[in-house]
Amino acid sequence: MTGPILPGATLGVLGSGQLGRMFAIAARRLGYRVHVLSPDDDTPTGQVADQEVRADYLDLDQVARFAQGVSVVTFEFENVPAETTRICEQFAPVRPAGSVLFTSQNRRREKTYLRDAGLPVTPFVAVENVAELKSALLQLGIPAVLKTADWGYDGKGQVVIRSLDEAAAAWEKLAVPAAILEAFIDFASELSVVAARGLSGEFVSYGPIGNSHSRHILDISVCPARVPAEIAKEAIEISRAVLERMNVVGVLCVEFFLTRDGRLLINETAPRPHNSGHLTIDGHVSCQFEQQVRAICGLPLGSSEQRTPCAMANLLGDLWEPGEPDWAAVLGSPSVKLHLYGKRAARIGRKMGHLTALAASVDEAEQLAIAARNAMIRHTS
Ligand code: AMP
Repeated sequence: MTGPILPGATLGVLGSGQLGRMFAIAARRLGYRVHVLSPDDDTPTGQVADQEVRADYLDLDQVARFAQGVSVVTFEFENVPAETTRICEQFAPVRPAGSVLFTSQNRRREKTYLRDAGLPVTPFVAVENVAELKSALLQLGIPAVLKTADWGYDGKGQVVIRSLDEAAAAWEKLAVPAAILEAFIDFASELSVVAARGLSGEFVSYGPIGNSHSRHILDISVCPARVPAEIAKEAIEISRAVLERMNVVGVLCVEFFLTRDGRLLINETAPRPHNSGHLTIDGHVSCQFEQQVRAICGLPLGSSEQRTPCAMANLLGDLWEPGEPDWAAVLGSPSVKLHLYGKRAARIGRKMGHLTALAASVDEAEQLAIAARNAMIRHTS
């Protein structure tokens, strides 16, 4: 085992979106160099990295060269193929390990793994054809949610089924060979815990963070979440168990449903910083991206102490529809921090940036974030 990877070294990141961008900013602040590999160029991460390699994840020669040029490899994109991390592992440590990514990137593997570990997950059944789907509907009850096993995020690849008659059409709509059917959870709220685990097993966490979604995409996050202390404690303990069990070195987010009768069920995990954790950049002593840098470099973790109640509002491309947002209006709100990801084209549903509002209470912070976001919208008369 070699020593920690110290400032001045080069860190490699697979995937080039906003998560990689904020990771690269944290890494560069700490004096590291950053190389990024993805199939695109002029990317949110590439714009702030030292080197942007444009290559397909399955161009294994390029991937090997990339891994040879860095001290450690991490990822910001969940659908990096297993072959890619396997090649990287021959040349540099991959943190979290490729096996963690492999488990989490497929809902069926992920949920089976967590359930077998005795952790509370949304009730589910694996299905591979309409007949299996119908019997799963009888087992789990209606309504239920059919989700693709692979490539699922932000509600993509899922269909709510409200009667047995809808089974065939839902299966056709999904059009994949493997899926899972989940019980529909009539949740009281959605929560997440973002946590980091170091090389020698030390653990820090943020939250729980309270999340609300719109059209299946995260809309608003608040920290701390409005839940009783014992629920908060339990969410953190479950998250600790997930990171320990998976032997995560890095950051992982656990998303939960809190049921109306006070039970926590894991909806999914993401072995990387998470959209709900963006508020840690402004709200906490060390943010989730700094923890990712520290953890993958084998350094001590930073403090995850919260400085002030805060709320985050996502900025989706929809806000650009009436015209370029009114930046002066949002920057005129002194307790609101604007983060933009450098994406050239705004599209409906595309994450373009976020706002974090800091205030004396979570309610106030949430109102401030929403008001600042509304103030950005151009009104065409
Ligand atoms: P996912 O992509 O699985 O995280 O789902 C996105 C969002 O869809 C979640 O944050 C929930 O708001 C909703 N959702 C997903 N699965 C379920 C479920 N089993 N029951 C109720 N709502 C769900």
